[in-house]
Amino acid sequence: MTDTRYTAEELGTLRAILDALREDSDDSLSWCALGDWLEERGVREWGRGNLERDSAAFRAFCAHEAFLLCAPTRKGRSRIDNVQFYSGYSEPRYSDPTCEIIAVGNWNGCDRYNPTTRTREDIDDSPAQFGSLLESLGIPLEWDDEWHSCSECGKLVRTQPDCMSWNPHYDIVNECELICHECRPPIDSADLDTMVRNYAECALWSSSEYDEDGNGGEPLDTNYTIDDIHPNTMASMREDCESFLRENMKDIGTEYERAGHDFWLTRNGHGAGFWDGDWDDEIGNRLTKSAHSYGSIDLYVGNDGMIHS
Ligand SMILES: [Zn+2]
Repeated sequence: MTDTRYTAEELGTLRAILDALREDSDDSLSWCALGDWLEERGVREWGRGNLERDSAAFRAFCAHEAFLLCAPTRKGRSRIDNVQFYSGYSEPRYSDPTCEIIAVGNWNGCDRYNPTTRTREDIDDSPAQFGSLLESLGIPLEWDDEWHSCSECGKLVRTQPDCMSWNPHYDIVNECELICHECRPPIDSADLDTMVRNYAECALWSSSEYDEDGNGGEPLDTNYTIDDIHPNTMASMREDCESFLRENMKDIGTEYERAGHDFWLTRNGHGAGFWDGDWDDEIGNRLTKSAHSYGSIDLYVGNDGMIHS
């Protein structure tokens, strides 16, 4: 199961070095021995840029190669191979580590079901051992099912919540590209104003006012204007418009008025919207799908005489 490019003796030496480092990750002689072992055998293109040989990053790369060669199972090797290194976070509450490197992977050891004993048994602990060694170098470990990298700056963004107050710090653009909030293009506030105004006007025009007995049915814009919308409702309208605009910047282009109008109609399932032929078919379909994901909203006149959602 082990690598056939090297003799059992060579791999034995490598394992002994790793064992020494797992005992004492400060053992600089063993780190030197590891660097030399890999360099002498030309494992991957050596040099790794201008990294200092005693830096955490250099040591992490050496350990990565060594664990890859020594892991006893294919599953363990693949887990170690999939570990990725990043230079920083683009996530609130996270600051970049002083070692300037973060490792992302699946740090669980590998196990297998044994039908005789009917239990799961550990078969390869090397991904976990690799993780512990990195941690002892001061390198933060993250899980690859919780983090992704921004396609602009390459920094790490959390994509799974870790607490109740967590909010995504990224947008998905063009359906699959992840962009962190530091990298997203700025939105002109006058353009957003235009979109929000049209959205709110359309909301008043397409919603009706009923009294307690359900009588009435006059469009809200007969007796109310945008100024009658409660500030909280207005703020959430603006938030939705901004988010929708960010997600669909390319498709909306400079059509802020039409986009505001059609966003309201489409998300609320009215008889008109992005899909009714005013937009290019493909763009209209994408915008419709995106608008539906926001769900519908009802407006009503509150006891304060203002409009709420
Ligand atoms: Zn970014």
